[in-house]
Amino acid sequence: MLQKTHSVAGLLAAEGVLLHFQVPLLSWDTAAALLLGCLAGPLADIDKQGSTMAKVFFPLSFVLRLVDVRHRTLTHSVLFLFGIGALLLPLLPEPLFWSFLLAYASHAFIDLFNEQGVELLWPIKLKFRLLPKFMAIETGSFMETGFRYILLLLCIALPVRYYWDTVSGLF
Ligand SMILES: [Zn+2]
Repeated sequence: MLQKTHSVAGLLAAEGVLLHFQVPLLSWDTAAALLLGCLAGPLADIDKQGSTMAKVFFPLSFVLRLVDVRHRTLTHSVLFLFGIGALLLPLLPEPLFWSFLLAYASHAFIDLFNEQGVELLWPIKLKFRLLPKFMAIETGSFMETGFRYILLLLCIALPVRYYWDTVSGLF
């Protein structure tokens, strides 16, 4: 999937977390969580040469390439997710921690709709995919654009639905 699709999915994940913790819409926590969501969503593609995340975190992506980590393996695995979770748990307040973690997890999850599949259980070399190949969403395709718009609509609908009082108070 494209970086922008992953960002929207990460944003949606962060919104879900904010609603769960009932964080006020107009707060620094909300702003930080949404930003984290947008960044954590595409982060796993740091393993893909030429991706924006690989460029932004160049030293890390360089190391991954040096040790020959293939795309959609280590950084897209459940093992890595737990590793990041264990590392960040003591560092971030709960809403930010879960926003980051679920946004990060959304990456591998939506990659499962792609035809290439994901090695979720890396280092076990087994590719997972949620849809049969003929139905899978090809990266950059018309289907992916549609999928992204659905996610985007949800991103707009969620705050409108649950923060209506605050949203309507703005106008
Ligand atoms: Zn990916």
